[in-house]
Amino acid sequence: MSETFYPGPSRSHLAAFPPKERWDDWTELDPKAWPQRKERHYSLVPTTCFNCESACGLLAYVDKVTGEIQKFEGNPEHPGSRGRNCAKGPATLNQVTDPDRILYPLKRAGKRGEGKWERTTWDEALDTLAARIRNAIVENRRHEIMYHVGRPGEDGFTERILAAWGIDGHNSHTNICSSGSREGYQLWMGLDRPSPDHANAKVILLISAHLESGHYFNPHAQRVIDGKTNGAKLIVFDTRLSNTATHADYWVSPYPGSEAAILLAIANYLIQNNLYDREFVEQWWNWKEFLATEGKATDFTDFENRLKQIYQQYTFEFAAAESGVDVQMIEEIAKLVASAGSRFSSHNWRSAASGVSGGWTVARCLFMLNALLGAVATEGGVYPNAWNKFVPRPIYTPPHPQMWNETTWPREYPLSMNEMSFLLPHLLKDGRAKLDVYFTRVYNPVWTNPDGFSWIEMLTDPDLVGCYIALTPTWNETAYYADYVLPMGVGSERHDLHSYETHDSQWLGFRQPVMKAARQRNGETIADTREVNPGEVWEENEFWLELTWRIDKDGTLGIRQYVESKKNPGTRLGIDEYYEWIFDNSVPGLPERAAAENLTPLEFMRRYGAFEVKQKIGKIYDEAVASEELDDVHEDPFGRVFTRVPKPGGPNIVPLPSPDGDEDGRRLAGIKVNGQIKRGFPTPSGKLEFYSTTLSRWGWPELSIPTYFKSHVHKDNLGEGQTILISTFRLAVQIHTRSANAKWLDEIAHTNPLWIHPTHAAKLGVRTGDLVRVETEIGYYVVPAWVTEGIKPGIVACSHHMGRWKLTDEGQRQLMATVKLDHNGNEWKLKRQKGIEPYRSQDPDTLRIWWKDAGVHQNMTFPVHPDPISGMHCWHQAVRVRAAEPDDEPGDIFVDTAKSREVYKKWLAMTRPADQYSPDGTRRPYWMLRPLKPAREFYKLP
Ligand code: SF4
Repeated sequence: MSETFYPGPSRSHLAAFPPKERWDDWTELDPKAWPQRKERHYSLVPTTCFNCESACGLLAYVDKVTGEIQKFEGNPEHPGSRGRNCAKGPATLNQVTDPDRILYPLKRAGKRGEGKWERTTWDEALDTLAARIRNAIVENRRHEIMYHVGRPGEDGFTERILAAWGIDGHNSHTNICSSGSREGYQLWMGLDRPSPDHANAKVILLISAHLESGHYFNPHAQRVIDGKTNGAKLIVFDTRLSNTATHADYWVSPYPGSEAAILLAIANYLIQNNLYDREFVEQWWNWKEFLATEGKATDFTDFENRLKQIYQQYTFEFAAAESGVDVQMIEEIAKLVASAGSRFSSHNWRSAASGVSGGWTVARCLFMLNALLGAVATEGGVYPNAWNKFVPRPIYTPPHPQMWNETTWPREYPLSMNEMSFLLPHLLKDGRAKLDVYFTRVYNPVWTNPDGFSWIEMLTDPDLVGCYIALTPTWNETAYYADYVLPMGVGSERHDLHSYETHDSQWLGFRQPVMKAARQRNGETIADTREVNPGEVWEENEFWLELTWRIDKDGTLGIRQYVESKKNPGTRLGIDEYYEWIFDNSVPGLPERAAAENLTPLEFMRRYGAFEVKQKIGKIYDEAVASEELDDVHEDPFGRVFTRVPKPGGPNIVPLPSPDGDEDGRRLAGIKVNGQIKRGFPTPSGKLEFYSTTLSRWGWPELSIPTYFKSHVHKDNLGEGQTILISTFRLAVQIHTRSANAKWLDEIAHTNPLWIHPTHAAKLGVRTGDLVRVETEIGYYVVPAWVTEGIKPGIVACSHHMGRWKLTDEGQRQLMATVKLDHNGNEWKLKRQKGIEPYRSQDPDTLRIWWKDAGVHQNMTFPVHPDPISGMHCWHQAVRVRAAEPDDEPGDIFVDTAKSREVYKKWLAMTRPADQYSPDGTRRPYWMLRPLKPAREFYKLP
């Protein structure tokens, strides 16, 4: 494209976008006034979408007369999303105007879950919570405070608040989401996410549904299409014919859990035919460590011979037998992958890696193809995520917590990627701990997690949870069991910073409260987002700062210093000062760029919403380590070079190899390659780890190199009449809890039937629309069937995006059915009383609601399946599907939580705990990533 109308960082032809020079007064004709030509004037204010993790830029059109947001469109100044959005972006407007949203702080008035609430004030809630948290800290019950986050939507703000409190209280949703994949990537390169350069690839292999959902979906999807437009071939692995698979050149529909077998067959093809990048493998794989374990030769050709020997078992025929995919198809894609050379981009995020036990091997075996082809940090290849991400240094960095929280990091899972969050009810029921103060934020575990009834049992037991606070813009299944429900802003009502690995560059995105920025443009002073948000809706940044201030008003606990203004000591840090400091001091190039437009850095970010820090990051692993970073160096037999110079600090230091130092206290500085000291990868070896010393030393030597093994739903592990249920796929226009408060999205997607192949359906005597029972290990659910050839015969699938429910008619009414919950000891039943109906509200559209269904809440009927290594919940279920009973109705659910306990214990018994397998008396390898890392001495087992 030679000419760009919009000359911003999007670098694409976006003729429909208003030039930024006219963002202060953009004129459009009022469509409602047609045929009259009535002009409306808008102030265009950027912010960041919060409807998935991609953090695309939005541009709010704020009417200069009414002061209301008319619409959201894409922000062409955003380098990641380049002015484009999916349907969920513009639907942010529905969330702002949602008639059912929570507008005021609420306090429980009856029993937990009874649905009785009274309005309270922010002051009362803050003082009560601050006193409770202070007491827990002072009485050394710090492990009783927990913050549990679903979608963080920010880069570290709240983690630093918890660090300021001195607690190891961070809990995330990651182990029900992406831990499987993260583990596989981390084992290879020390960083847990891929950053594929799809746009420049020759061959793209997706084990995901990136053209409709997936991680960084819109930014990646548009680059996949760029790649395809440039001639790239697209291979998609998905048992289901997803919308992404329909765009593929090769749709591979494997038996779930067999993906790694196919990938290893492709790897074997590359190895046996010498089609890999020999120089790259020789220089950048830790093959010497592997050969050393065998005590044999140390020559690269010996390693090549061993590779050929080890992987020869993974023939196309073997892969075909495991996966049910034709030999010919596997051979064809192997040849295609081989033809890509270093322009091979690939991605697996949730999908297969989140479905089965050992799912982490899918990402590990996928990245092995990149590692064989040398397609690592190359144009058209895959970069480690941290190199394509920019995290600025904040105004304060509190120290690492002086404690280890066993409730989130139990010793049975020393190699888990993230907190064992979904086991919380079981760990508390085991008597391992109790919680005094429990926050959830953008998180709805009763609905999202497996085994939701066990969560209800936990939340309704005051001996297990003392005070539960739901921070949420909208009603959800978990919030009904809260003591406090505190209303937080939706995406356009809050501040956050983001940077994600959307392509080979580094950018920083700024989410901001649109109305605050619009009114500031008019010269108003806005001190607090509650002044501009609906009702008393607040934003979390300000909430956490104020809560922290009140926990330690006099500063005696040493906490207050982290939320104190530098400009006006003795007063609480404000939001403008917080972001001003970051933009002034931590973002290279931003002050200069802002000055060129006569703006301060904060004004620049408020005006444009994003800043491109750097393009084309390239091969950081191959950079030479600067001589100033080397002093008194020591090199070990594997080429690891240690130095006495401390690790450099400063903004956005790309992670250097940072595992343990040498015996004399030097830190790892780099890796000797061809006589030069290079930066390498942040792994224990400094190289790409074909051989994982970590797995080997921590009790899993049989898995120390990429391999394939039978999953919990392998054919050999299924019982009589059992089949596999795929339960993980997203619907393109829904996103867990928060999108349900968007009427446009609900109108498009409001049901989740069971996908079933015609041959399978015929055996069951079932047709589309007939009800079926899906029986899991702990109960069943009832759902209509959808007979389709878009699923592998014998496998069934149901999206997890539906089945939202509420206990009374109050609350969200556009996608939450009203249900009756019956409870007899361990046995729980949920039955729909009322579907979705039109209703009267300030929004006339709610009278036009025509859909009645809200789908079924299948996750409730799943027990926990924690992978013994990654800690990932393995979502796929071995189920029996049969025609429904005469009394069954859509959405019916039955569960026995005593059975959930049995399944939990069965999976717990598969672990290899740190106190038996740790090679060095620690709880976890120190080099592995961990949110809110405790101080090093707390890694030691007691
Ligand atoms: S992909 Fe869609 S939902 Fe996600 S951030 Fe972008 S616009 Fe929002």
